[in-house]
Amino acid sequence: ADADRTIRHPRSHALFEEAQTLLPGGVNSPVRAFRGVGGDPVFIDRAEGAYLYDVDGNRYLDYVQSWGPMILGHVYPSVLAAVEETARRGFSFGAPTQAESELAKLVIGSVPSVEMIRFVNSGTEATMSALRLARAYTGRSKIIKFSGCYHGHADMLLVQAGSGVATLGLPDSPGVPAEATAHTLTVAYNDANAVEQLFHTFPNDIAAIIVEPVAANMGLVLPQPGFLERLRELTQKYHALLIFDEVMTGFRVALGGMQQRMGITPDVTCFGKIIGGGLPVGAYGGRREVMQQVAPLGPMYQAGTLSGNPLAMAAGIATLQELRKPGQYEKLEQKSELLGEGITRVLHDTGINAQLQRIGAMFCLYFAQEPVTDYASAKRSDTALFSRYFWEMLARGVYLPPSQFEACFISLALEDAMLEETVQSVEFVLRQLA
Ligand code: PMP
Repeated sequence: ADADRTIRHPRSHALFEEAQTLLPGGVNSPVRAFRGVGGDPVFIDRAEGAYLYDVDGNRYLDYVQSWGPMILGHVYPSVLAAVEETARRGFSFGAPTQAESELAKLVIGSVPSVEMIRFVNSGTEATMSALRLARAYTGRSKIIKFSGCYHGHADMLLVQAGSGVATLGLPDSPGVPAEATAHTLTVAYNDANAVEQLFHTFPNDIAAIIVEPVAANMGLVLPQPGFLERLRELTQKYHALLIFDEVMTGFRVALGGMQQRMGITPDVTCFGKIIGGGLPVGAYGGRREVMQQVAPLGPMYQAGTLSGNPLAMAAGIATLQELRKPGQYEKLEQKSELLGEGITRVLHDTGINAQLQRIGAMFCLYFAQEPVTDYASAKRSDTALFSRYFWEMLARGVYLPPSQFEACFISLALEDAMLEETVQSVEFVLRQLA
């Protein structure tokens, strides 16, 4: 198979050698180092539309999309124009700007459960702040999370946190004091009975449930029918808040996120990725009465030097304006279906026992015998087989997330012919692996 490879990476290798002397693991975020697939990462030079170009001049169809934000494709003209125009008027002021209200209106107008919003700089900050808010609002300390869900790297959330941690096989991180996670209760994804049990045990102590309404940090695990509904019922019954972490799913599975698809109204929602159009942005928002706790309106402190900065707001506004045009999510759905049906046919034809799990413009191909419903079943995947698949796809110019436990993303820039080409690559590679 190696002999077939037309794509080579001498310059990436050289740059990685140097980077490893300067940055831990040569990267600024672990999954990028390709440890999950046992090789060196590709260094990217530039991107345009559906394509990434590496420093060796290779071109790839991009199914990572900077881990989600680039849903319009790279360097989308209206986003580029907005960022360029904004930059000329100043990079950051640390003072209010109209753009913050503009982006707020776009999010609030798309996600009815969000009546007020606070912008931050990352998904990590969004979830960390949302939990502080839930604790402030309820006066309670305990939180419930699900194993295999990742909500950023705040101490209290680094418990069975999926993706990067799963790939590295770290059960937890050193440096997190036991006290920091003492109030974090963890149960299996899709196990509403276990959640109910926790509420029976701690009826007055649980401030919030935080959940990825589609779990996209252990591959792609869909909520089973009734799961999210029961989380809503239980939180209402026990006066805890329901926090949807829609950092991945927000503006991806629908304009109004997974909550729109499910018809469920969380108390607080976390955003990231798409709402910043590729610049660093996160946000948390929700019911007015809850958001009124946030400083300076309320007593819960949370701040940020670069929060709401003009460049990030401009990229976010331009991105959401494009996504709000009629038909965009139908287009994404069609692209996802085209790819999904193609891969399903290939699985059938090659007899490879793998599970394609998919919703909206995101999917995961698990090299697993059974459908994946939680972290335990995700971990039964054949990661060695995934690695071979990953490298062969890369060699054919398809850039997939370098871990079995990450979701693949579809952008509007992927034309049907590109999706068909991807299916052909999947077919070629899976026939080799069969
Ligand atoms: N929540 C979810 C659901 C995520 O997928 C991520 C990152 N992939 C985060 C939170 C953390 O976001 P960030 O990396 O921007 O801190």
